[in-house]
Amino acid sequence: MTIRLAILPLLLALNFSMCNKHPSPTTSSEPVSSSPASAGETAGGSPGPGVTGASPSPKITKAVVDQTAQTIIFCYHRLVDKIRYPGTEITPADFEAQMKQLKDAGITVISMQDLLAWRRGEKNIPPRCAVISFDDGWKSQYEVGWPIMKKFGYPFTMFIYTEGVRGGSLGGGEAITWEQLADMRDNGVDIEAHTATHQDLREGHNIMLAAAGGKKTRTKLTGPEYEQWVHNEVVGSKELLEQRLGIKVNCFAVPFGNYNEHVKELARNAGYEATFTVYGQPITFTSPLDSLGRYAIEANKPKVFVDAVKMIGTSSGGASAVAEVGAADLSTQPADGSTVRTALPLIKANLGRVGAIEPGSVQMRVSGLGVVPVSYDPKTGTVSYQVTQKLRGNSCTVIVSAKAEGKKVEAHWTFGIEATAAAAPVSAAAKATPTPKK
Ligand SMILES: [Zn+2]
Repeated sequence: MTIRLAILPLLLALNFSMCNKHPSPTTSSEPVSSSPASAGETAGGSPGPGVTGASPSPKITKAVVDQTAQTIIFCYHRLVDKIRYPGTEITPADFEAQMKQLKDAGITVISMQDLLAWRRGEKNIPPRCAVISFDDGWKSQYEVGWPIMKKFGYPFTMFIYTEGVRGGSLGGGEAITWEQLADMRDNGVDIEAHTATHQDLREGHNIMLAAAGGKKTRTKLTGPEYEQWVHNEVVGSKELLEQRLGIKVNCFAVPFGNYNEHVKELARNAGYEATFTVYGQPITFTSPLDSLGRYAIEANKPKVFVDAVKMIGTSSGGASAVAEVGAADLSTQPADGSTVRTALPLIKANLGRVGAIEPGSVQMRVSGLGVVPVSYDPKTGTVSYQVTQKLRGNSCTVIVSAKAEGKKVEAHWTFGIEATAAAAPVSAAAKATPTPKK
């Protein structure tokens, strides 16, 4: 009995130190973390006009999504004054300084759910964003990290491995409690899954199994035994979080970033919308959702943070970002994909739903004519141009752009012109209805 009591803390310590060390991208395969930064972009990274949050115009039914926006995702572990494990710890002062740096660099901290809503095309995000996540469920995240995040008004995500919560087979004295997690949940903190026991999920790797009663054995699982185990890690942990906290879990962080196609497939089938690794890289509109890289921030590698901020500072300089607006949202006339009978149409669009338009910024380009002198009515938001010089050919593309809330928005649409109406003769083949843009 005494022996077992003595061994248990030792095993717990081993397990935690294992957990502590591996998320560091120092381990074996760290493909992208900072190399793209050094390859090409110069360091300057002047952050362009500050973006202070508030996505434009919730009135728009079909969201205006800026597909050029980028997000960097950070992953933190413990916050402690005295660093003992520099691979996973950071001092509260350094952490707070980094949160401030994001603000100073004009990077907007958004929630994970907003990032995913943007990817679904449901919600716009500012051009340069960051998402903050805390891994493993340490009580210092609740006691130290959360108050700092509150100070900045930043949302964040907790990635929890369920056996590591206090009372679980791996939840020691430094672990977060279910009560603390419930408190965070009640205050809008996003809580997501990070397996049950925080181990390498790939088949055939050494894992530790905890039997009922606390006895632990090291083993390698294969075949049906492995499948049963990994199912509990990927699916069971999600269900436990959902049931215990009454939440919906749609994100999965892979321990140590060790995954393969099978693990990704399991996560997809389990209903996770996104799976995260620790190979940091800016997240774009097309980044694969089943392997989103996060920057793991550690006391012994301050450069990772600096590089991440530089990355996003240089790669999507605010000024050139353009939000694409669907022509249908602008009630365009002629409508996208329609055909008109005159070569002298009245071209109109309503910018009223885009947001607060800067009147002088409204511009219209018409194919074959270039920039045309539009009239813009700020009251109705209507921009219009009466074509005075016959349009040639069988189709015409219009590009309307404007600045709304400091940001450039743009809409393109194409309409057809009946051959008899067009000034130039058209071949029969070219008479076909124009293909709508989208
Ligand atoms: Zn972890």
